[in-house]
Amino acid sequence: MANRDFEIIIVGAGPAGLTAGLYAGRSKLKVVCFEKLAPGGEILNTEHVEDYPGFELIGGPELAQKFTDHAMKFGLKIEMEEVEEVRKDGDDFVVKTDMGEYRAGAVIYTPGGYPRKLEIPGEEEYAGKGVSYCALCDGAFFQDEVITVIGGGNSAVEEAQFLTKYGSKVYLVHRRQGFRAHAVALDKLKDNDKVEFILDSVAEEVVGDDKEMKALRVRNVKTGETTEVAANGLFVFIGFIPNTDLIKDPVEKDESGFIITDQNMETNIPGLFVAGDCRSQLIRQITNACGDATTAAVAAEKYLEAQEDAKKSSAAAAAS
Ligand code: NAP
Repeated sequence: MANRDFEIIIVGAGPAGLTAGLYAGRSKLKVVCFEKLAPGGEILNTEHVEDYPGFELIGGPELAQKFTDHAMKFGLKIEMEEVEEVRKDGDDFVVKTDMGEYRAGAVIYTPGGYPRKLEIPGEEEYAGKGVSYCALCDGAFFQDEVITVIGGGNSAVEEAQFLTKYGSKVYLVHRRQGFRAHAVALDKLKDNDKVEFILDSVAEEVVGDDKEMKALRVRNVKTGETTEVAANGLFVFIGFIPNTDLIKDPVEKDESGFIITDQNMETNIPGLFVAGDCRSQLIRQITNACGDATTAAVAAEKYLEAQEDAKKSSAAAAAS
């Protein structure tokens, strides 16, 4: 334990990583957070956040800066290094980055993930100007507007239902007739008067002017016919890809590839804690990422204390 570089290493400086860093810093632990890009994570790509308590409306980058400043004020070191590997080595963890190798007693793993993209023309151009990957975050910006949703899984079906709270009309575009979504949720959506299904169809292009999206061009895969659906919003729910590959030990995951933890955010690998978007959970929001990261930081501290106590007990037993 003496040769550890840090007590805790945090992987990823999104809301979860920065919150874990804040709590670990406040506990005066020797902690570092490695981030490959800029601190803030996914909220850096979010124009407005209006569901973080205490801030009715705040820019994503501004909230990211507040998280960063707050954590650093309490001693968190943020290093711009890309983590390549996390593995257990005896009682320690070894975290390999593009700049070196570091040992720690515990790891809080918070690198998030990313929504699968359609990769069609206009998708990137109109991101934040009509195109979104989060209904809870952005739905309210589409009050009384026409919204398109892509996907046939539970996320698409549930979020399409949610978006009918705001949109005057919601089109669900799915590439085949069959759905992966639960039948109950699907039936409920079919009963919703605001919803129209466009099946056997794929999105081909997001069309708009220099300010915002105006329509979605879709192609029927059976007839080849192309139509333009006039809409101001496009919500894409075709899967979310968690960043779990850096962990080299066999960490337990759910059927969708998200990491399973106990209520202390600890995985099946003792000392490896997970919070944020790559954790198996019901929703992926800033609020629960922060809450779970708080638990992870406190649990990691207790884990290190227990490890230290066990070491002292075995040293005392050996001496007697
Ligand atoms: P998902 O279940 O993998 O569904 C993705 C959907 O997107 C599928 O319908 C798929 O079509 C479609 N798709 C994939 N790539 C596409 C592309 N390039 N173009 C057009 N369509 C594409 O993903 P998810 O809905 O995000 O759910 C992820 C996991 O979380 C699932 O296990 C889901 O059950 C779970 N989840 C559960 C709940 C709940 O229980 N309340 C809520 C949300 C999510 P095909 O079907 O044709 O492949």
